[in-house]
Amino acid sequence: MKTLTIVGAGISGLVAGVYACRSGWHVVILEKAGNPGGVSTSWKRRGYTFEGGIHWLIGSKPGVPLNDIWTETGALAENNPVYFKDPVYTLLDGNERTSLHRDLRTLSKDFPEDRFFLALMRFHVWCFTFFHTPVQDIFGLKVRHPREFSILEFVKMGPAVLLTPFLMLFSARKYISRFRSRKLRHLLEAVVDPDINALSLIYTLSSFTGGDSGYPEGGSLRMARNMADTFTSLGGEILYRTPALKVLGSGEGGVVVKTQDGEIRSDAVIISADARTAMDKLFESPLQDGWARRMRRNLLTSQCMFIALGVKADLSAYPRCMKIMLRNPLMAGGIEYDSITVNNYSKEAGYAPEGCTTLTAILSGRSYHYWKEARENGTYAALKQQVIEDFIKALQETVPEVEGNVEVTDMATPVTYERYCDTFEGSYMSDWLPGHFACNAPMRYRKGIYFTGQRTAFSGGLPIAAETGRRCVQKLCRDYGVEFVSRS
Ligand SMILES: Cc1cc2nc3c(=O)[nH]c(=O)nc-3n(C[C@H](O)[C@H](O)[C@H](O)COP(=O)(O)OP(=O)(O)OC[C@H]3O[C@@H](n4cnc5c(N)ncnc54)[C@H](O)[C@@H]3O)c2cc1C
Repeated sequence: MKTLTIVGAGISGLVAGVYACRSGWHVVILEKAGNPGGVSTSWKRRGYTFEGGIHWLIGSKPGVPLNDIWTETGALAENNPVYFKDPVYTLLDGNERTSLHRDLRTLSKDFPEDRFFLALMRFHVWCFTFFHTPVQDIFGLKVRHPREFSILEFVKMGPAVLLTPFLMLFSARKYISRFRSRKLRHLLEAVVDPDINALSLIYTLSSFTGGDSGYPEGGSLRMARNMADTFTSLGGEILYRTPALKVLGSGEGGVVVKTQDGEIRSDAVIISADARTAMDKLFESPLQDGWARRMRRNLLTSQCMFIALGVKADLSAYPRCMKIMLRNPLMAGGIEYDSITVNNYSKEAGYAPEGCTTLTAILSGRSYHYWKEARENGTYAALKQQVIEDFIKALQETVPEVEGNVEVTDMATPVTYERYCDTFEGSYMSDWLPGHFACNAPMRYRKGIYFTGQRTAFSGGLPIAAETGRRCVQKLCRDYGVEFVSRS
């Protein structure tokens, strides 16, 4: 039996682990943290569950190619049925409410002044109707359950493929700026970080209109635990709180992974920890290959601050996901926000004690250096507390029930993600800024050493983690002449 060490039990590492076990490898995963899932995680505080990862899961709709990965790895199982929220976002501006529904035609009724560009946007979204994250088998690999490759499916993706280079040239914000209505602009800016390319906006909207992108009950941690259980049931082993310190050896004659407890020898290693961090820290000396130099030079990271509140009030009269326009801007991490997007879990069973509500918010933007400096000069805790207080003040202008009823607060900054998961500048996702092409790490660095996860493919969160985890194991199996097995 060939042996494999995987660095990291994030979603990508778990996907790789499950497929490698099924294909007959003896697999050990080393995980720095105490839980599976990496940055895709949720946690409990005094009876409140805070969802710090999945907000929508591409591939949660049966029949979409990616759904096969989620079901084969046990990520989606009987204990986490998916529900598909609609409306996906509601804008709260004073007393007025406007919603973004999965049926985009409703926008034309609400914003007649933007009918023309809305029709154009719907056409762009339609072009992506048949475009799905491809889940294919690589060439030259022995596969037990080959995936069917239909020319028709490929042809149907044509419009999306043709449109892609155009949408990558400018930001979602620029795309949205053509709309006259300020409200419509704000509503659409809730969908993705508006500074990333317009492709992400259109792709995400098309997954909404196509009935995909649901939320699995129990959230990120239940999903990651399902995957970890599948992995261990196949004979895999996860060593938690065991960071990999160094990867030694060229790969060809096997590798040694150093941990604080000693050394683990195996035929191959898959590094699912952030490749940008790994290339500087995990090898005997920082990697100097062309791709590594390009990545050092060009990489732009997706960063966010995450705020969670446990509120002693029933907020079920408020929308599930609300974008709230603020009267006064909120300053957080050195960035000014004129709106906040708040997730309201009042209708989700088990997220808060009876009659109480969990609220969370993601504040997108690059604040790593601000928080890093605060950590170094000892102001980190006080600044965080200030942001939480200002956030609550801003929120209660629109949700007055919050006032005096917040009993639990929590906040993560990019420095938190860096500390827990060692992601570069605390980023949670690979990013493509407008006009930039990705600067990826190679999935097969050399025979015996592989990378997977957020830095090995284009922009995206969980779909990229899943697809690269699977493809990486295919490359490994091809190198070693092992048959790839995807299901029992
Ligand atoms: C607030 C938030 C909301 C999000 N919402 C969504 C969403 O709605 N939809 C979506 O698709 N995506 C979303 N994402 C993004 C998505 O969660 C991530 O892109 C994805 O989980 C990345 O997975 P990964 O396996 O590539 O990396 P990671 O999750 O970073 O996994 C890497 C793992 O390696 C471990 N590790 C690192 N260094 C070492 C070491 N030296 N030794 C051992 N272990 C190590 C880390 O602890 C971690 O567990 C969100 C992320 C955040 C933070």
